[in-house]
Amino acid sequence: MNSLRLILTKKETYASFASSLCLLFFLLLNGCATSQPTAPPTIAAPVASVPSSSQLSDKRIRAVLNKAYTTHKNNQNGKNADYIKALAEVDSRLFGITVVTADGRVFDIGDTQSKFSIQSISKVFTYAKIMQENGPAVVREKIGVNATGLPFNSVMAIELIPTRSVNPFVNAGAIASTSLVAAKNSAGRWKSIKANMDAFAANELEFNEVVYDSEVNDNLGNQAISKLLQAKGRIYSDPLEATTVYTKQCSVNVTSHDLAVMGAVLANRGINPISGKKIIDAANTPYILSVMATAGLYDNAGGWLYETGTPAKSGVGGGILAVVPGKLAIGVFSPPLDGFGNSVRGQLAAASIIKDLGINPYAFGE
Ligand code: GLN
Repeated sequence: MNSLRLILTKKETYASFASSLCLLFFLLLNGCATSQPTAPPTIAAPVASVPSSSQLSDKRIRAVLNKAYTTHKNNQNGKNADYIKALAEVDSRLFGITVVTADGRVFDIGDTQSKFSIQSISKVFTYAKIMQENGPAVVREKIGVNATGLPFNSVMAIELIPTRSVNPFVNAGAIASTSLVAAKNSAGRWKSIKANMDAFAANELEFNEVVYDSEVNDNLGNQAISKLLQAKGRIYSDPLEATTVYTKQCSVNVTSHDLAVMGAVLANRGINPISGKKIIDAANTPYILSVMATAGLYDNAGGWLYETGTPAKSGVGGGILAVVPGKLAIGVFSPPLDGFGNSVRGQLAAASIIKDLGINPYAFGE
């Protein structure tokens, strides 16, 4: 009996094994024939993760910074901006790089104490200010958040693109952003913008009279842009006053060190890792970083993002600021610019640091 039951059990086992095989084939065939969704394959190989700011050791950051500096130090490509006469006279050889981590460590190499006018990088902080005062929905509606694909001072973009001011980083959108800063008059607007920049830098920044005088009497293109915006109903205080305050904000002096601290606020969810003060709401930082990613380097924003995956902003004074959210900010100063108005060595140095540290947000470590 026992052996009979055993045989039966074995037979049953074979039968059920055979029917399971049939079912499996049926399911497989059916699956293929009807292309039903199947579970994604499990990834066998372990994936390296992007290091967090605390995982980046001092030694490693220093090595990568030294490499970026020495590799690009003798690159003489590009040319100082000369449409603002005072910028043409800045020593083209100056080269300084600073990294500030989200946890407040600072690494400097080269001419990191040389002062230069912040120019268009100031647009990031005025944008942060109007974001803080109005919130992302109003900024999107009143200024715009799309890339132009055209030069930073393009008048054609104003005519072609329905939001007119287009985004806070082209001159039109930057002048409109300045005009939107809450104030009783233009003096109050300038005071508020400058105090905000100082808070980002954890430093009382100097004003560069020479650069200001050289630009304010020669900025007819920007004045025309402000009037054109007025004609389109896209400026929020007196247009010429807004252009003057905008020219002032561009004439604030910074060092590569200041730039990296300013950027570290954005890398650190709105808190300045040096002063410990909250500068903007954490919830607002993604709206600032995203426009830096799509429009920070103007008509080369795509090329930059392709190489580094990071938000950044350039200025015709030779500054570049790149931010790696949650990790660090890189400030570079090197006056010669490429045809888009972006610092040649600034881009090369920042891109090499991001690559060598393995912190491109779209990559998966090294
Ligand atoms: N002040 C400069 C201008 O308005 C800023 C331009 C820039 O840095 N891209 O032309």
